[in-house]
Amino acid sequence: MNDYKQIYTTRPALPPLNEYIAQLERIWDSKWLTNMGALHNELEEELKEYLRVQGLSLFVNGHMALEMVLQAMDLRGEVITTPFTFISTIHAITRNGLTPVFCDINKDDYTMDVTKIEELITEKTSAILPVHVYGNVCNVEKIEQIAGKYHLKVIYDAAHAFGVQYKEKGIGNFGDASMFSFHATKVFNSIEGGAVTYRDNSMGRKLYNLKNFGIRSEEEIESVGANAKMNEFQAAMGLCNLKYINENIQKRKKIVEYYHKCLSGCRGVKLNSVQKDVVSNYSYMPVVFVEGDYPVNRNVVYDTMKEKGIFARKYFYPLANEVMCYKDVLDCKKTPIAKKISQSVLTLPLYADLKEEDVDRVSEVIWKLSR
Ligand SMILES: *Cc1c(COP(=O)(O)O)cnc(C)c1O
Repeated sequence: MNDYKQIYTTRPALPPLNEYIAQLERIWDSKWLTNMGALHNELEEELKEYLRVQGLSLFVNGHMALEMVLQAMDLRGEVITTPFTFISTIHAITRNGLTPVFCDINKDDYTMDVTKIEELITEKTSAILPVHVYGNVCNVEKIEQIAGKYHLKVIYDAAHAFGVQYKEKGIGNFGDASMFSFHATKVFNSIEGGAVTYRDNSMGRKLYNLKNFGIRSEEEIESVGANAKMNEFQAAMGLCNLKYINENIQKRKKIVEYYHKCLSGCRGVKLNSVQKDVVSNYSYMPVVFVEGDYPVNRNVVYDTMKEKGIFARKYFYPLANEVMCYKDVLDCKKTPIAKKISQSVLTLPLYADLKEEDVDRVSEVIWKLSR
C-alpha cells in the first residue's frame, strides 16, 4: 500500500442530508412507500420539464426501463446495436428474445457508424438501438432517415446523456423512445432508477402495465407485466439531486476544461470534444491513447495510475461482442474500430467535486509516460 490519497473514477452526487431528510418526512407522514406515490409523480413531472419531453415513465433502474420499452415496442428478430456499450444494452435485447446485430462505431465520437447500418439490415431487422456514448450524440438525423426508409423502430440508450441537448431539443425527443439511467454512478442519480421517454402516447399505458403487473385497478388486470416501479425513497433522492443538476454539470464542465488544459499538446493523447450543436452533460472524461503515437499501451497507463491510487476505468472493455456469454453464441460481426478504441481508451476520474490538484496528479502520470 502507499499513502497517496485515492482518486476514484466517480463519486455519487449527494444532496445536503437535511434536504433528503425533509423528503423522507413526507414519506413518514403519508406512509406511502411505493406504487406511484406523490414523490414519484412529482419527479416524473419535474423530469419531463427538465428533459423537455412530452412522455416519460419512471422505472426502478435503467436496465429494466430498456428491457420494458423494447418489449412494449413488440419487436421481432434482429436489432442493430453497438458493441461499444455497457453490457446492459445487449442483455436487454437478448432477454427479449431478440438477436443483437453489431454495427461498428466511428472513431471520432464513438457512436454508431451510420454508414455501416444499411449493410446490416435484413428482412428480420425490426429496430436500431444506438447508444449516446459518453453523452456524445449519435447521428440522429441519419438514423431517423434510415429507420424511415426501412420502417424500423429506433430506441436510444441515453443512459449517459441525461440533460444533453441537440439543436436546442432535449435528447430524449429523438427516435421512438430513449432510456435514461439514474444509477448512483451517473450524472443524475435517484440511488438506482431510470426512465423511458417516448413519442407515441400509447406507450405510456404499455409501460405502466409492464412495470406494474398489468394492473389497471383493483379487479382489472389488463395485460402480462412484471414489477419495475420506482419507489418513494428513490424518487426522494431524485427530487433532491435534480435541484443541483445544473450546478453539478457546470462543475463537471470546469473539470473537463481543466483536463483539456492540462493534457493538450500531449502527443498521442486524444481527448473528446463537445460536438457541434450539442449542449453536453460532461458525463465522462474519455481519453484514447493512440497506438504508435503514445509510447505505451493503455493498460500500462491504467496500471501505473492504480499504483498511485488513481482509479481510471477501461470503459468499455471488453466489447459486448467479445464477452464470454455472447462471443461463441451469437454471430458477432467484426467491429474493428470498436475493438481498437476499446483497447486504447480510459475514462479518467470525473465527478462534480473532483479537485484541480487531483486532475494535476492524473495528468502528470499521462505526461510522464508520454516521454
Ligand atoms: C448505466 C447504463 C445502463 C443501465 O442502467 P442501470 O440504471 O444501471 O440499470 C445501460 N446502458 C448504459 C450505456 C449504461 O451506462
